[in-house]
Amino acid sequence: VRVHLAPCIGEHGEVEGGVGIVEDITEQRHAESERTRLLREAQEAIRVRDDFLTIASHELKTPLTPLSLRLAGLERRLERQEPVDPALLRHARQHLMRLTALINDLLDASRIEAGRLALHFEPTRMDMIVERALGSMDAERGQHRVDYSHPEEPVRIRGDTFRLEQVIANLLENALKYSPDISTVRVALEVRGEFALLTVSDEGIGIPKDQQEQLFERYFRARNVSITSYGGLGLGLYISRDIVERHGGRIWVESELGRGSTFYVALPLLSAVNPTPPEPHALS
Ligand code: ADP
Repeated sequence: VRVHLAPCIGEHGEVEGGVGIVEDITEQRHAESERTRLLREAQEAIRVRDDFLTIASHELKTPLTPLSLRLAGLERRLERQEPVDPALLRHARQHLMRLTALINDLLDASRIEAGRLALHFEPTRMDMIVERALGSMDAERGQHRVDYSHPEEPVRIRGDTFRLEQVIANLLENALKYSPDISTVRVALEVRGEFALLTVSDEGIGIPKDQQEQLFERYFRARNVSITSYGGLGLGLYISRDIVERHGGRIWVESELGRGSTFYVALPLLSAVNPTPPEPHALS
């Protein structure tokens, strides 16, 4: 409460009495703290956006310098009618692919925000999608060992083949990116009850416990990765979660800082009769 007191002064200047007002300001205080909270949230959103713009400009610029250097080299050689090294073109193309992938992630994220990321569902095979994703990773594998285990029978699901390959490629890319060159990435596909369960494990840097839930949020990057040591926009897992959940599935992570991470994706089998998406961790 707030108390206002005012004396009543008589004709000769003496105090004759007083008036007191007792005001209940509970509502006002609530409104104030609500305003402070909204202001703080808006400031935080602006900070996240500013950080994102810094990271995004850095990431988008990174492939451009080597790309223009290689194109300049190519131009010089052609002018002098010297033979062109195919590696020069291959590297230029890799930088272009990196740029395309970044721009596609930005577009997908804004499509998700607008509720306009279209999925095309069809009967498909999870084992084949995983194999395709593994094949597309060949160039980025470096010295990593990649183990893959899968059931002998086809693993039939209903889903968007292209988008699911994108989810798996993103998990594989992260496993390779966030783990040392000489280490093993284990990929396993299994059938668990009414679900196809995909596991991607690495022996890498891991994720701090208190940040594991936030990984799937837009723009989120854990504090143990910096833009200089590991490039990225913090969008891949955000996009992946949207795709997986719209398939009636779940995606989650288990990780120990400095020891490695395991990502899980559970998707309903084609034969599943009204499957309820499993609680995260229930199948791991
Ligand atoms: P990006 O890799 O582009 O930052 P993602 O959305 O794919 O974006 O991942 C979000 C964050 O999750 C990463 O920045 C990183 O902090 C963490 N992360 C994802 N995968 C791994 C992994 N295999 N090992 C360690 N950290 C990971």
